[in-house]
Amino acid sequence: VEIGAPLVECTDITRHFGGVRALDGVSLTIHEGEIVGLVGPNGSGKSTLVSILAGSQRPTGGRLSIEGHDVTGRPPHRIAHAGVARTYQIPKPFTSMTVRDNVAMAVMFGRTPKGLDAARADALRPLETVGLAHLADAYPAALNLHQRQLLEIARALAANPKVLLLDEALAGLNPVEIDNAVAVIRRVHESGVAIVIVEHLLRVVNQLATRLVVLDRGTRLADGDPKTVLADPAVVRAYLGK
Ligand code: ADP
Ligand code: MG
Repeated sequence: VEIGAPLVECTDITRHFGGVRALDGVSLTIHEGEIVGLVGPNGSGKSTLVSILAGSQRPTGGRLSIEGHDVTGRPPHRIAHAGVARTYQIPKPFTSMTVRDNVAMAVMFGRTPKGLDAARADALRPLETVGLAHLADAYPAALNLHQRQLLEIARALAANPKVLLLDEALAGLNPVEIDNAVAVIRRVHESGVAIVIVEHLLRVVNQLATRLVVLDRGTRLADGDPKTVLADPAVVRAYLGK
């Protein structure tokens, strides 16, 4: 997949929680065709940045734009319509609905809103992409953690995003499940969706990412080619906590 035009740009983003500076002047551009690995120690601001990119949190300062349009401070559904979708660290499906209807809900409120019947028909494609089509009529309670995380990805894809933000979508998986999730993420990427993946397993990020961004205490410590970034002494220090 070739790297193309900028899709999402954030400039000098800050996010304060009282006296805590979760983000302190972070700038980042996500281009078509990229898989950006967003890494950094616990508490470095990764989830906060994902929330700001998805509009689920407002920045205290700075600017967010999507395909050249300023969307700073817009509500999440407006950002979703502009083409950015996210998953959450902890999947929270609607337990009283089937897997298929969970995805149909996301289709209904996606970029091209639809009625329930059309949404149910459209729900199969994202389920096929993540390999859950055979469980379309099951209820989320019947899914294991890996399958619930795949459902979370299918729901995000249902909105037909240009950029997909994955916050620790591989957390808690065994090696076989991680390999499967990596294959799913590659398939999504090859279908033309740019991806930002937050992940603490460097080995996994390393096999997926076309670019690595390292956060440390709310600032961007490094941004570039994965090999170069991982060899950067400042990055090694941040990770080893010295
Ligand atoms: P990461 O995802 O890299 O582990 P987070 O973005 O979750 O980091 O958190 C960054 C910092 O912001 C941490 O110090 C965290 O305690 C703080 N923080 C995050 N969310 C809140 C919140 N809602 N209220 C107060 N502090 C928060
Ligand atoms: Mg986090």
